[in-house]
Amino acid sequence: MDNSPHLIGMHYAGPTVRAALVQADGEILEKRETEISPNSMLDQVAGLAKDLASKSGRVAAVGFGIPGLVNRQTDVVIVSQNLPSTVREGLHAELTRAIGLRVELENDANAAAYGEYRIGAGRGVRDIFYMMIGNGIGGAIILDGKLWTGSSGFAGEVGHITIDTEGLECVCGNTGCLETVASAPSIVRRARERLNRDSTSSLSRLGLTKDFTADDVAHQANEGDDFALMMIERTGKYIGTGVASVINLLNIERIVLGGGVMDAGQLILNPIIQEVKRRAFQPCFEATEIVAGKLGNDATTIGAAMLAGDAALSQT
Ligand SMILES: [Zn+2]
Repeated sequence: MDNSPHLIGMHYAGPTVRAALVQADGEILEKRETEISPNSMLDQVAGLAKDLASKSGRVAAVGFGIPGLVNRQTDVVIVSQNLPSTVREGLHAELTRAIGLRVELENDANAAAYGEYRIGAGRGVRDIFYMMIGNGIGGAIILDGKLWTGSSGFAGEVGHITIDTEGLECVCGNTGCLETVASAPSIVRRARERLNRDSTSSLSRLGLTKDFTADDVAHQANEGDDFALMMIERTGKYIGTGVASVINLLNIERIVLGGGVMDAGQLILNPIIQEVKRRAFQPCFEATEIVAGKLGNDATTIGAAMLAGDAALSQT
């Protein structure tokens, strides 16, 4: 009988926290998902972890993926939108105490990258660049099977490379970042602006609903709505512009694209690849595979769990 330790992976995708009880090989045994309020985050997260741990009885460690900058040396979340500073600073110590297990905090894209690398779309190669395109845009670099996190843990912030020098202000303080045009909220903002000023878009079904989401734009594009399709294709061009820079910089074997925006499937993947082909140095483009992630929104929980498992193992 397999009695290898189990792991818990968690993902704060505000306001939702996803949690999973995971086998050492990355297979999910049980999942939980709940909406939390940042002020009661510690209690709720600890409760979820304890509940899952009680189902197993042999959990070795907990990994927690957070959108933001996580300093792995100090276990402090430096920057994360919507998390009060008291939560960010005390998260690791409080969770460790409340859960009673080893806890590893990790940037959500880093965790997702590792999940895809181990059991998803990154399998079979040693070097990948991962991009998570959702409410924000994150990235991660895996070289020779290991996360390359940079000098203080912040490497891979591809969402904050400048795409438009005249662009909008970004949460990071820069202007015109990739995230300001290609994240899920940016897709909605661009679509709404265009619907308001362009009469030819009046036939779009998106105009009928006031509070549409990026998922709705993708859904309408899939239904053949020309305007929605154009918005998805433009988004693909922006992402492809960023990916082309990554390819030129790293000459990396495989690029894995994940996050909610990639749920649009081929509709977004094709324009991304076309734009990369147009912009990247041709030999670099030809040496790189560009694929969609396979683990969907389980990527971060699985990867956070497996990273925590590796860390626990290296300690014993
Ligand atoms: Zn930025």
